[in-house]
Parts: sequence; structure tokens; C-alpha cells
Amino acid sequence: MVRMILVSLVAFLFFAGCANAPVTGRSQMILIGADQETALGLSESENILSQSKLTTNKTLAARVENIGKKIVAVSEEAKQYEWSFYVIEEDVLNAFALPGGKVFFYTGILKLMANDDQIATVMGHEIGHVLARHGAERMSQQMATNLGGQILSTALNIPAGQQGIFEMVYGTASNYGVILPFSRKHETESDIIGVNLMFKAGYDPNEAVAFWEKMSSAKSGAASPEFLSTHPADSTRIADIKNYIKTLKK
Ligand SMILES: [Zn+2]
Repeated sequence: MVRMILVSLVAFLFFAGCANAPVTGRSQMILIGADQETALGLSESENILSQSKLTTNKTLAARVENIGKKIVAVSEEAKQYEWSFYVIEEDVLNAFALPGGKVFFYTGILKLMANDDQIATVMGHEIGHVLARHGAERMSQQMATNLGGQILSTALNIPAGQQGIFEMVYGTASNYGVILPFSRKHETESDIIGVNLMFKAGYDPNEAVAFWEKMSSAKSGAASPEFLSTHPADSTRIADIKNYIKTLKK
């Protein structure tokens, strides 16, 4: 029995394990199929929507949706997902995306954004997390940890096992809208993908620098603990973005 599980596991790892992030080309270990990842994201998205109040400001919702659509339109990888862009009416300085293409902005953070290019900055960044399948990568890391620990079947118990891992990775079991921080590596990668896409979609990438500088200075104030905890805005991040902008062809 154990042998059989091992054989299927090796086959599973072989077929599902190798992936490359878009734009950066970084190789990834991903043990979860895109379909499963999308299904988990969708079910979580429905949970969040059932507990949230979407904005009644139709102009704002349409503006955010249009920016999202313009950005996914320039990405080949984005075509495999069904995208939705939501604006939740809540004075929270945060935005997040779920696997499979569900992107959420809070009205709180939108108030801080001076123009469409700054909305496109965070939009591109969140879309970057989805396209690079960072959620699936984190779940895979968790699964690999479980494998190393004790029982193979824990990780292969689908989907119940994955739902638990999803909640663990996203922190959604305890608190909706508070997504556990991505690793620095994932944040940097999403910045690069986001700036790349916003530029291709016709937005000004220099506004990404302006936006993150604004977030960085907000750090010292009382504002935006949620967003800063998941999206640390520091000088390294801003320098990385500036360097990347220099490589973009005008
Ligand atoms: Zn992020």
C-alpha cells in the first residue's frame, strides 16, 4: 500500500511538480492542478462575498474592473482564468487576490490612490500573485512539509486535505480579508510581474514607485497596518522596482 502511494506520488510530483513563473521564469514546485487551485479560490471567494458588502459606487467598481480587465488582456497566462474584480465597501487599506483570478480591493485603499496608474500598480501586483500561482506554491510547500512529517495520505487526501492547507496558507479560517503574508520572494516577483503588465497595458510604471513611496511613508503613521503587514514597502522594494523599470522598452 505504501509502495503504491509512493509510486503514485512520484508520478504526481513528476507531472504536476514542475512549473515556471511568468515574466521572471523562476522554477517552482507546484503539486496542485490549476483546476483544483481555481476551485479552492472560487469557493473561498464565495465565502468572502457572502460576508462582505460590495460598494454601491458603480463608477468606482467599474473603474477598478476596467483596470483589471486591461491588465489581464495583455497576459497570455491570464487567459486560462476567469477573472472577477470586486470592491468591498470597508475602510481597510488592503487588496488581495485568490487563486484562479478573484481580485478584491477595499474602498479604504482606493482612497489613497491618486490615479488609475496607482490602482494599476496594486492590480498588477495582485494579478501577479495569481499568474505566478503563489497560492498553489505555498500550498505545495505546506504539502511537502506534511509529507516529510508523517502520513503521505494527508497530502493526497483531496480535496478535504487541501481545503485545510488552503485555510492554513491563507489564514482564511480565522479571519476573512486578512491574508497571511507572502514571502519576500513572492512579493518581489509579483512586483516585477505587476510592473511588467501595467506597462504593457499602457499605464505609467513610475506611478508604482510613487505609490510604494507613499505606502512607505505611511509606515511611520498609524495608517494601513493590514496592507503593510502583507505588503512591506521598504527601500529595497522601491529600488528593485526602479531597476526593473529601467529594463522596460519604451
Ligand atoms: Zn503581495
